[in-house]
Amino acid sequence: MAKKEFKAESKRLLDLMINSIYTHREIFLRELVSNASDAIDKLYYHALTDGQAGMNREDFCIRLTADKEARILTISDNGCGMNEEELENNLGTIAQSGSLAFKRDNEAKEEIDIIGQFGVGFYSAFMVSDHVTVLTKPYGSDEAFRWESDGADGYTITPDKKESCGTDIILTIKPSSEEENFDEFLDSYRLQQLVKRYSDYIRYPIRMMVERSRVKEGTGVEGVPAEYESYTEDQTLNSMVPIWRKNKSELTDDDYTAFYREKFFDYEAPAKVIHSSTEGLSTYNALLFIPSRPPYDFYSRDYEKGLQLYASGVLIMDKCADLLPDYFSFVKGLVDSQDLSLNISREMLQHDRQLKLIAGRLEKKIKSELLDMLKNGREAYEAFYQNFGLQLKYGVYSDYGAHKDLLQDLLLFYSSTEQKLVTLEEYVGRMKEDQKYIYYACGDSTARIDRLPQTERLKEMGYEILYLTDDVDEFCLKMMASFNEKEFRSVSDKDLGLEEPKEDEEVKQKNEAHKELFRFMKDTLGDRVSDVRLSARLKSHPICLSTDGGLSIEMEKVLNGMPGAVPGDQKVQAQRVLELNPSHPVFERLAGLFGTDTERLKTYTELLYNQALLIEGLPIDDPVAFSNAICALF
Ligand code: ADP
Repeated sequence: MAKKEFKAESKRLLDLMINSIYTHREIFLRELVSNASDAIDKLYYHALTDGQAGMNREDFCIRLTADKEARILTISDNGCGMNEEELENNLGTIAQSGSLAFKRDNEAKEEIDIIGQFGVGFYSAFMVSDHVTVLTKPYGSDEAFRWESDGADGYTITPDKKESCGTDIILTIKPSSEEENFDEFLDSYRLQQLVKRYSDYIRYPIRMMVERSRVKEGTGVEGVPAEYESYTEDQTLNSMVPIWRKNKSELTDDDYTAFYREKFFDYEAPAKVIHSSTEGLSTYNALLFIPSRPPYDFYSRDYEKGLQLYASGVLIMDKCADLLPDYFSFVKGLVDSQDLSLNISREMLQHDRQLKLIAGRLEKKIKSELLDMLKNGREAYEAFYQNFGLQLKYGVYSDYGAHKDLLQDLLLFYSSTEQKLVTLEEYVGRMKEDQKYIYYACGDSTARIDRLPQTERLKEMGYEILYLTDDVDEFCLKMMASFNEKEFRSVSDKDLGLEEPKEDEEVKQKNEAHKELFRFMKDTLGDRVSDVRLSARLKSHPICLSTDGGLSIEMEKVLNGMPGAVPGDQKVQAQRVLELNPSHPVFERLAGLFGTDTERLKTYTELLYNQALLIEGLPIDDPVAFSNAICALF
């Protein structure tokens, strides 16, 4: 019979594909097993719809046969098979997917799910074999056909004989060379391993005759030494029901832990297991884990987020990043869906509507599970938060605050009154009747913040303050602006919203009375401050720095410390205000010097400003001058 050429571009494509699309050539087995499973699905479906009696799911099977001597690996199924025309169309043209056509023709009937929407899988057989034979007989026909090809130059189709319906894919495995080992694809142990790895969850049994050894009867007892004999046994290689398709009630914590450790290479048990199945708009099973500790590379560029993605039990992607938002990038796990088309390219998957739907639902699920942990397992949640809280806070801040509503309930901050981490809801629930704002203060550590002069008055009045110690914290709160309609307010802010008319009035009057003194001090400090004034914020300390405007001193530090920050005078600078305590002797002394000893007043002003910088943890411009000025006081 004349050899037919593959259709036009197919030839070039075939070459290209064999050599480049799949980096792991072992996946040919996955592809062929999926095709076999599809073919059985199709026949089973026809049987159901044609009302054919006597066809049971249990009758179906996929069989592997390896003949080492002849170097032949056969993958057989008792599925729908192909007639001559189908052979021609399905295997003669690349990217002509019979599965796709079948699905289109049966669009309305939801119960079918066919893996494989892209006509290239079959050709992966050429990655490991130099001759491929397909012997097939369609269901309900007496004719069988043989399709044969050596690769890119073409194929032949001839009539043949086959006993029962279905398809045998017969691969002549390439000879091994020094660089490449193909023998492994004839090795029973390796084949079992590959089925376990890639096709464990195919819903029909994948069987193979496996050689085993046993103690010969009558030996190994009563002083008779044991003799061994080998025998072959028909074995089912796949478990067919993956753990994530099982009922939660059938599974123990140990089952989950063992699965997690083996699959995601962690020594520790997961901090949380999320096992969910959904039906309706999108049907999928998900099994997710929150690790007990951040993976060693979590905070590095090398860390790759993502979930394993299965289409109807077949692994199609190891780390599908689109399934997880960055703020939940610590989640490990997998998703198995029947609604996904098995496309080879990641680009196409990215635009998949189903995938987006699933990602959206997983996001909600992860959040609700975390909230549950927060409510019912506070200690565990705090441990989780120590590990991954930063990621949540970056999530609030990123994308211009687009996810703040989703994430705000999951945040924790250290509280001045409770002396532990609290939620924003807890804070707001405790707010005093007259309290206008949610107060916060920033610094390197909670101990250091606790000593900040700016916090004195609020603390004395019994207000709770959130202590922010991570760089991203203040940016995160600024992005949120408010929580439950209560605005966030820094303890350094000019307006703390306190209702103390008497005291504030006094300060106002004093400010007015000493206007000239403050102007003099402001002129002395020049651009370094935008104002010098008295404030009611201070109780025992003589001075502090505060800011006017949106940029705080902490934010200034963070921004200037960032890798791309511009050195020198282009640094961002908060509008600093030097605040004085009106009831402190230092202020009395300054007032006394004004108009009598301006030189000394200047020196004191410089000194006080530099002290305020030190309290804030900011560098002083000229430490030597500062030191000299102090020594001059002796
Ligand atoms: P895909 O499976 O992605 O559609 P393939 O290149 O793997 O693409 O296969 C092309 C087509 O050949 C399939 O869609 C199917 O119609 C047909 N086919 C492949 N293997 C078998 C099989 N074992 N039994 C029946 N039909 C098959």
